[in-house]
Parts: sequence; structure tokens; C-alpha cells
Amino acid sequence: MALMDFETLSFYQPRAGTVLRNGFAMNRLSHAYIFEGPRGTKKLETAFFFAKRLLCQHPTETGDPCNACTHCKRIMHASHPNVFLIEAEGEVIKVDQIRRIVQEFSKASLEDVPRVYIVNDAHKLNPEAGNTLLKTLEEPGADIYAVLVTDSYNALLKTIASRSQVIHFTALDKDVVRADLVKSGVDPTLAMVIPEYTNNFDEACRIGASETMSAAFRLVLELFEMAGKPKKSMVLALREKRDELLPDKDAKDFFLTLMILYQKDLLNAKLRRLDQIVYRTELEKLQRLAETTTQKTIQNGLERMLTLKSRLRFNINSWLAFDSLLANLERGFLNAI
Ligand SMILES: [Zn+2]
Repeated sequence: MALMDFETLSFYQPRAGTVLRNGFAMNRLSHAYIFEGPRGTKKLETAFFFAKRLLCQHPTETGDPCNACTHCKRIMHASHPNVFLIEAEGEVIKVDQIRRIVQEFSKASLEDVPRVYIVNDAHKLNPEAGNTLLKTLEEPGADIYAVLVTDSYNALLKTIASRSQVIHFTALDKDVVRADLVKSGVDPTLAMVIPEYTNNFDEACRIGASETMSAAFRLVLELFEMAGKPKKSMVLALREKRDELLPDKDAKDFFLTLMILYQKDLLNAKLRRLDQIVYRTELEKLQRLAETTTQKTIQNGLERMLTLKSRLRFNINSWLAFDSLLANLERGFLNAI
């Protein structure tokens, strides 16, 4: 992954970029930050970027860490003695974990730079641990900073929330995620579709890089390619490939979501709402298929898919349900001709 700098941060999270950049430029940093927002919005990455910028000995003209000095390098290798990542061992972050670090911090620092705690899932701090952490920050002369990362701001201890500066991270813009996926080599049509499935950036990248998920995507295109062709059977094609291509629940769920999006596109093509189509590279095919199918048939198929999607959460015999869904779709497409 590319290294974070202020330009990149402002691209993904404009508000966080501005607040932190100004904090450094005006030398007005808070000793405790809360990075709050949904999963997959680059909060933890930004916390390490903050630590690096704070400790860097030779910030660049753009105000970014140099990535070359000994502090930058050690932070990037997760081996800097002054930068601690604290994560829950189990369901909570215990006071012992904090005490261990406080003890570490009470020894004279061998490094003449600030110390930084990064607490991941900070809502898991139990009250004792949270208060111990606060006390450390507030000790006079302590050059210590804390970045608390959380996706459950409301579950955070009130004492902590009230004494920290909160920076809100927001779900990434779909087009930003798409551009990133394409840049990392994901098929452009698949990149269009993924942000409709998840607004978690990390998950989007994982799906984009997954061979299984790509195979599920290609299977959807292949099945719709057969739609309305009397000599091809969508049902048989799925039966033949499903065990190999859709090995688990996640793949199945992704596959069905892609089917739903395709069917929605078909409806949008029928209603001439072309700007809402996500499978943009399939536009001609969608229009052709929409031409020969009634709106009612398309809607009927869509409803069946959505019903199956909600039933998939329970342990129904899903292959049987998929069989019946595809048989129904196939009939609908053929009858229309
Ligand atoms: Zn540096």
C-alpha cells in the first residue's frame, strides 16, 4: 500500500487531513485524539501517520514525515520503542496492559522524542484502564500523546471522550474506492460493483484482490450472457460450476448481491435510467435484454432474489433455492421472446 501523506489523507478524509495538518503547522496538537468512524476508513493507518509525523526529525516542505530518518523507519517497521499499539486481549483492554506500558514509559526515555499510545478499538478500554491511561497523559511534563481509534464512539468511556479532541472519519466516497480498486489492477466493471456491496475500504480491497470473489463476478456475467438463449441453461451452468466457484457462504452472498445488482441494472435499462447503471461496460447487453423482457418479469425476478438474500442468513438449503430462482429467471427471459 502506498505511504500515507497529508495529500493522500485529505483525499480520503478531508476533515481529518485539515485538522491534523493545522495542528502541526500551528504547533497546537492535542495530547489525546479520538479517531472515530466506521470500519475501513483508514483510522489506524492515520494514527500511525500521526505518530510518524510527530517523531520525524526532518519533515518535508509539504509538512509530511520524511520516511527516511531513523524514527520514521522504525515506526514503519513497528519497532519504535516510543510508539505503542494497544489492542484488546479478548473482549476488553485490561488495566494490566496499560500498566505495563506506563511502567515502560516511567523509565527514562532513551529517545529524545515524544511517546505515543495508539489504542485500537478504544471502546474496549475498561474504566480502570481508561483512567490509568488518562492519568499518564495528564502528568505534568509528560511528552505523551494518545490516539484512540474506535468505530463505536458511543460506547467510549465518557471521561475519555470529554478530554480528547474528536476527529470524525467518514465512509469513503464510492468513486474514490472505485478509482483505488482500478489503480490496484481490479477489473473496471468489478470495481464499479464492489462499493455497492461494502462501504468498508479494507473489505473492498480484499474482495478486489480475491480470486474467489472475481470468479463469482465472472459467473454472474456468464449466466446473464445466457439469458434469453433457448439452447443455454442458466440452471445447468450454475449447477456445473457452483461447488468449484462458490465454495463458501461469503462467496455465495457476494454472488447473489451481484445478481441483484445486475437485475436492478436491467430494470434501470428498461426504465431508461441509464445514469444509474453500475455494470456500465455491460450497457449494450443490458439494453438488448431489457428490450425483450417485460418490466413485470424483471421486477418479479428482482423480488425473488431479494427474498433469497434475506433467507440466506438462515440455514436454508440454498442450492435448491438458487435452482428455483434461476429456473424462474430463465423462464421469464425465454417467455418474453
Ligand atoms: Zn522522518
